[in-house]
Amino acid sequence: MTAYISQNAFWGLLISAVEVYKRECFGLLIGYRDRKGPRDMYIVEHALPFQTAGRRHKGVVSNPRAHKRIERFLQSIPQLSVIGDFHSHTMWGYSRAASHPSNTDLQGMKPENVYIIVSVNDRLREVPWSYNDDGSLSGTTDDHYFRLTAYTVTAAGEPRRSPILCPYAIGFNAHPLRAIK
Ligand SMILES: [Zn+2]
Repeated sequence: MTAYISQNAFWGLLISAVEVYKRECFGLLIGYRDRKGPRDMYIVEHALPFQTAGRRHKGVVSNPRAHKRIERFLQSIPQLSVIGDFHSHTMWGYSRAASHPSNTDLQGMKPENVYIIVSVNDRLREVPWSYNDDGSLSGTTDDHYFRLTAYTVTAAGEPRRSPILCPYAIGFNAHPLRAIK
């Protein structure tokens, strides 16, 4: 199962994480699940940060009533629904941000949804955005090094990485070639 991330969602994830950097952000993934023959994809159209999330250095607490209000609001938009959530893991002191879900993260995961962890660290050197062998997507923008990792869980609660597809991220910092006269 692949997680497709739109341009909107890509910036939503990064900006939410940068805004509260050194603390964790939390938000909802809005989109739909696309099943066409063998191709089964989560299409993430928007990453919507939760303004009511209680932020801590390790972990965030969401507001269940606000969450329910958003779910109900989205029911009136037929094309979009909550397909999962995202949160960030950040560098803390000298320990770099993890890209795997914590036990608390795992407890909140449901098999039908997709979850994105945005790991943010201080940038050591500039790295172009690219896909990694484990299916994650990483790169640098400004002073930050980001890694986006998508997870689903099996019915038994075992996490599985979902490869991320984000054509926009791969292309946006490529410099256009100069036309040859
Ligand atoms: Zn976490």
